[in-house]
Formats: sequence, C-alpha cells, structure tokens
Amino acid sequence: MPHPLIRDIVIVGGGTAGWMTALGLATVVGDRYRIRLVESDEIGTVGVGEATIPLIQRFNRIVGLDEREFLRETGGTFKLAIEFVDWGRVGERYMHGFGRVGQDLWTVGFEQYWHRMRSLGRARPLGEYAIAQAAARANRFMPARREPANSPLADIAYAYHFDAARYARYLRRLAEARGVQRREGRITHATLTPAGDVDAVVLAGGERITADFFIDCSGFRALLIEETLKTGFDDWSRWLPCDRAVVVPCEPVRPLTPYTRSTAHRAGWQWRIPLQHRTGNGHVYSSVHMSDDEATATLLSHLDGKALGEPRQLRFKAGMRRQAWHRNVVAIGLAAGFLEPLESTSIHLVQQAIQLLIDFFPDRGFSTADVAAFNAQSRFHWERIRDFIVLHYHVNRRDEPFWRDGAGMAAPDTLREKLELYRSHGRVRRVDGELFTETAWLQVLAGQGLLPEGFHPLAALQPEDSVHAYLEAVHRAVHAGVAQMPDHADFLARLGLA
Ligand code: FAD
Repeated sequence: MPHPLIRDIVIVGGGTAGWMTALGLATVVGDRYRIRLVESDEIGTVGVGEATIPLIQRFNRIVGLDEREFLRETGGTFKLAIEFVDWGRVGERYMHGFGRVGQDLWTVGFEQYWHRMRSLGRARPLGEYAIAQAAARANRFMPARREPANSPLADIAYAYHFDAARYARYLRRLAEARGVQRREGRITHATLTPAGDVDAVVLAGGERITADFFIDCSGFRALLIEETLKTGFDDWSRWLPCDRAVVVPCEPVRPLTPYTRSTAHRAGWQWRIPLQHRTGNGHVYSSVHMSDDEATATLLSHLDGKALGEPRQLRFKAGMRRQAWHRNVVAIGLAAGFLEPLESTSIHLVQQAIQLLIDFFPDRGFSTADVAAFNAQSRFHWERIRDFIVLHYHVNRRDEPFWRDGAGMAAPDTLREKLELYRSHGRVRRVDGELFTETAWLQVLAGQGLLPEGFHPLAALQPEDSVHAYLEAVHRAVHAGVAQMPDHADFLARLGLA
C-alpha cells in the first residue's frame, strides 16, 4: 500500500537557505503542497555569504531568475576566479579560475604536457593557459561566446559575487508570489509525536504550527535537527581549526575585480569580495592561535576603502550533522553543518541539498532507504568539498605555528590518497559526482607549490618542440581571447548596473 502524500511543509528559518529552499520547492511542486516558512526578524540571518561557484547559474535558471534583474537586486558582480595571496608561502600568489586550463590535444590531458614542459623549464605559469585566470588578472569579463570555433572564449565559466541578505529578500518576493506563506515569529521549541517525529513548532506567543514534513533552515542554531532530534555533529576542527570570523564591508574601489581575493594571515585568511555597492571583507581565524582583537585589527588594516559600520563577529565549528535528514526533518544550510567559505561552497551545498531533497522527495512513509540514500549522498558531497578546503591548509610552506600545524596534520584518508597519486605522476582522479574538477585541484596543488615528481609517461611521446609550440599556441589564443573582452565594470555598466 502506498503511503499518503505529504500535505504540509514547514520551513524553519528565512536566511539564504530557507528562501532558496522555499522558492526551489514552490517552483517544482507548485500549489499542490502547502509550504509555510517561519522566520524571526528579531533573530535575523547570518547574511554574509557573498561568493559563489558557477553552478549557482543552474539554480537561478531553474527558479526562473533573469540575470540582469538578479544582479540589480543583489548588488552582484561577476566572478571568474579566486586569487590566493600568501598561501603557499608569504609573497606568493596564484589563482583558482573556473573552467578549463589549456586545451586537450593528444593522448593525455593538457596538464601532463604542462608538467613535462615545466620540468624542462619551458612552460609558463599555469594561469597563462587559462582564459578565466588571464581575464581575471586583466579585470575583464564577458560570458562565453561560441565564435570563432575553438576559441578559449567558448570556455568562459563564471559565478557571481552578491549580497546574500538581498538575495534572500529577492527570493522571498518570488516565493511568496508562488504561494509560499511567510510567518513571522520566534520559535521557542518543537513538540514530538509519540513515535518521535516532529509534529509542531511552537511560537513565543504559544501558537503551534503543525506539518507533516519540516525543513530546518534555522542556521547555526539547528533548532529541529539538533536541539530537538539530537542527531549529533561530526566535528572536523582537527582538519579545519578556524572557528571564528570577523566581518566588515567597506566602500567599493576601482578597478572592479571579477574575482574573490583570499589573503592568508598569521592564523587564518581574509576574503575580499567586490560588489556593486560595497566590498565585503572578513577574516576567518583560529581563536587558539589569535585573539579577537588582533583578528579585528588585522582585518581593518587590510581594507581597500573606508569601513562601513562596525566589525561583526561570528563563531562556528567546521563539520556536518551526522544525519542531515532524520525522521521527518531535513536540515539545509548552516543547520546542516559548516565549511569555511574558502572555496565559496556553502550556498552551493544549499542548492545541492535542495536537489537531493527533490530527488528523494518523501511521502508520509519516510522510507528509511530513501533517507539513508539522501544522507549518504550528502555526506559524500560535504566530505569531498572538505578535502579540497583542507588541501589549502595541508599543502603550505609558511612558518607560523598555525600553518606548521596545517602542514603536519594527518589529512583525511580520501585527501591523502589523492595527494599520493598526484605526487608520483601528477595524476588527479575525480570520483564520479565530486564537485571540484581535476583542473581545480591542479590549480590549487601547483599554486600552493606542490609539484609532482614525474608526469604521465605517454606525455613524453610527442617531440619536445611540438609540445612547446602547442603550449605557446594555447597561450596566444588565451590572450587573444582576453583582448576581445570588455572591462568588468564596463560590462556591468552596459547592463545598466554598477
Ligand atoms: P541564517 O542566515 O543564519 O538563517 C537562519 C534563519 O533562521 C533566520 O531567518 C533566522 O531568523 C531563523 N531562525 C533561527 N532561529 C529561529 C527561531 N528560534 N525562530 C524563528 N526563526 C529562527 N556561503 C557562500 O556560499 N559563500 C560565501 O562567501 C560565504 N561566506 C560566509 C562567511 C561566513 C563567515 C559565514 C558564517 C558563512 C558564509 N557563507 C558563505 C555561508 C552562507 O552565509 C550561509 O550558508 C547561507 O547564508 C545560509 O545561511 P542559513 O540560511 O542556513 O542561516
């Protein structure tokens, strides 16, 4: 006998996660389910998420956002890359750009020919063969263009920087227009059925809001998944010890860079995210290695423009819920866990969770097999992203205690295996479904100063001069492409923005 369908969904929390979930579900299920969202203005949102990865375009497209309107509503700009300053060693910098590096031509990937030529002293830095990096360095931007054929211009992949609080407000308007009912109120607690499922959230005035299915988007508080159901937390701070951030926006400056900058400091790192109306800044640090006062002073002494308002502090712990879905509750966003924003992945993890929720959308039977599959897949995504973030700390040659601890840590097994494989012949193997591509790994590995001992033997088959000529041709094509791209600020101005 099939189980009855769910009728009522309650989303707890109206930050970026809550409103993305509300709009995503309303778009898919229309008015066949009642969707209500409870949020508290008194509590507010974290609202500092500002940098994203290219897959955000897919979410925006599915929920029907017009790109220009989205950029206007959120003060958004385009993002081609992240620049890492002082990460490998003080004084060094590199970029992790979106999209491809080089162009595949022969038997093995471009990177293998690059490793071969580099070992012979005949290669340029990796970024010289990548359109995203070269354009980012020149502060240029435009979306991909198909013509001329084989041009690197066809490979431009991009994401956005935007004001996450404005994004949530924008999504709210659209979600309400699609039937989502918003309820303002502070939830004091939740009540359970005799079987142990959540049956209602209770507001400060005593009102009970019941539902069949609850989505916990209550942020760090994790009101249902942890406070009520106590599902437990996998603490990853042995790999990612940063546990605080101090944030402050500042006045925008020109040029308007189409990339995020991450600058390593003594015990953490600082982000710089250019929006149309301001630049977002935050210093993520380990409270074991640095005091709050020093962290704030470091942040303020590295701003491009005048600070707008007082610095705000946030506390967190890296890790994820043991079960993001338990009984009739799914946690999405900060309620599901936290990974520092080094590779701009939190909003992506929200998007990913919404997709998984749609894939495994329940009826009132809440199949244990479906719930287990959701949890296993979501763990896979979280752990693989965690490994990529840990990589930045583990592979460094800085000399302060915080960084020496990072280099000396016992890395997660999945990361260790990747590093061993890479060290011998520069091979990066991406498991099916992993977010970060071989190219992303390579840019960070080489950027942090880790180069393999050898290269793929088949990359030695072509004559050296032919390989060199091929790399030079890619380099010229990349720079010819960049020369055709407009300045990032001019491109936004043409859209009537910035
Ligand atoms: P929140 O924004 O905290 O929202 C929680 C909601 O729950 C609020 O509406 C609140 O009112 C409600 N709520 C809580 N308790 C109650 C209650 N008792 N009653 C009623 N309502 C309640 N992500 C990126 O993708 N890119 C970035 O660059 C990035 N940078 C970040 C930097 C920092 C320092 C931090 C901490 C996060 C960053 N993130 C980033 C993550 C991003 O901000 C969040 O993932 C995203 O905003 C989702 O937050 P959320 O909606 O889960 O939680």
